[in-house]
Amino acid sequence: MQSLRFKAIDNLTSAKDEVTVNSPAKITAIFGENVFTLQAAREHLSDDAFKSLNSSIKSGQKIDRSLANQVAAGMRHWAQSKGVTHYTHWFQPLTGTSAEKHDSFFTLKSDGSPIEEFDGNALTQQEPDASSFPSGGIRATFEARGYTAWDPTSPAFIMNIGQGHTLCIPTIFVSYTGECLDYKAPLLKSIEALNKAAVDVCHFFDKNVGKVTATLGWEQEYFVIDEGLANARPDIIMTGRTVFGHSPAKGQQLEDHYFGSIPERVYAFMRDFEHESYKLGIPLRTRHNEVAPAQFECAPIFEELNLAVDHNTLLMDVMARVAKRHRLRVLLHEKPFAGINGSGKHNNWSMATDTGVNLLAPGKTPKTNFMFLAFFVNTIKAVHDHADLLRAAIASAGNDHRLGANEAPPAIISAYIGRYLSKVLDAVESRVGDKFDEQDEVMLKLDIHKNIPELLLDNTDRNRTSPFAFTGNKFEFRHHG
Ligand SMILES: [Mg+2]
Repeated sequence: MQSLRFKAIDNLTSAKDEVTVNSPAKITAIFGENVFTLQAAREHLSDDAFKSLNSSIKSGQKIDRSLANQVAAGMRHWAQSKGVTHYTHWFQPLTGTSAEKHDSFFTLKSDGSPIEEFDGNALTQQEPDASSFPSGGIRATFEARGYTAWDPTSPAFIMNIGQGHTLCIPTIFVSYTGECLDYKAPLLKSIEALNKAAVDVCHFFDKNVGKVTATLGWEQEYFVIDEGLANARPDIIMTGRTVFGHSPAKGQQLEDHYFGSIPERVYAFMRDFEHESYKLGIPLRTRHNEVAPAQFECAPIFEELNLAVDHNTLLMDVMARVAKRHRLRVLLHEKPFAGINGSGKHNNWSMATDTGVNLLAPGKTPKTNFMFLAFFVNTIKAVHDHADLLRAAIASAGNDHRLGANEAPPAIISAYIGRYLSKVLDAVESRVGDKFDEQDEVMLKLDIHKNIPELLLDNTDRNRTSPFAFTGNKFEFRHHG
């Protein structure tokens, strides 16, 4: 093992084979080119099929079987124009990763002649063997039947792996008896429950609201290490984390890594996986060094919740594949190393109406913004009532190892809303509203050269220790790993 490490370091100092990354001049030129977007659907579908798909996405109406055949044919037409030979239902079983089983468009007619085919049945439903996927113990091991069913609200996409191109159809995964066997089906149920409840509440304030969706901006932290060094560690190969060994002499004591300049080799890796992500419609925006040595982070623009979760799941797969091209290994484990920070996956969460209102945006006069106050107060009440569920949702061996071990949020759920909004709520409670001064914009006076602009102060400081903190126009759930 020792000689493997020396060899890996030798290779590192002599290796000059940097991977060329073909980043486009403009991200907009390639963004979503491998996604069956509504624009692609418009081009490849009949009017009826397009309308049916569109209303299924926008208002949850079922697509009938004959139109599903047309949608499938259009999707195949689009995919084949991009060199696709196979399709798969892409789903998220309880393994923490995505699953896929490829089938070819190629089939034989009854007279033995070969054709390419993809019909509505193949698009909407498949039956993978469910017995080899975890069910959390709700099924006997001999109960094997499971179904994947198309989720039209998350668009199909093409995954390119080397020279192979596969059409991936996002699906839910349920058992023969209807139990959810994945993460997507419960998520879709919760999105619908929230929509139903929130629209009713919105109608007290605005009758024009027809739909409320949850929005999510996730953050993905990760470590990057050299493949040669990773291969010298059986613990990293087997578990994606270290389980023995010495701490290095220099960890994060000097706090010089956070937002430091990005090492060139990692920078090439970042640009490469960002490039692949853009083609898949993942709207990555931010990249930076994280606190621990060799730790980094990326984050996208906010999206509708279901799509954001699919994109995060897809991104982790893309990162692992692209890392190999760069002879790197990406570690997505919550706590790969003792004594330094682990990797969190913060959820920046809010709700938005189809009329374009962010329900957690206080606006300039929160005290009289009753729709905001109703959702704000009820979110806090929900956290108070269901703290156990929130805690259970993030309690895993890996994540509990992270929390409280060099990580800010403690394992106890609480909400932080900041001094200003606390004062607003106190004023509402004690009915001193009329005397309460709405806060005007507060500028931070800096006694330095006048070329430095004045800073506009947010109405809350960032509170790093709160697991569920209000951050201006959303809550940030910081427990997730
Ligand atoms: Mg971070």
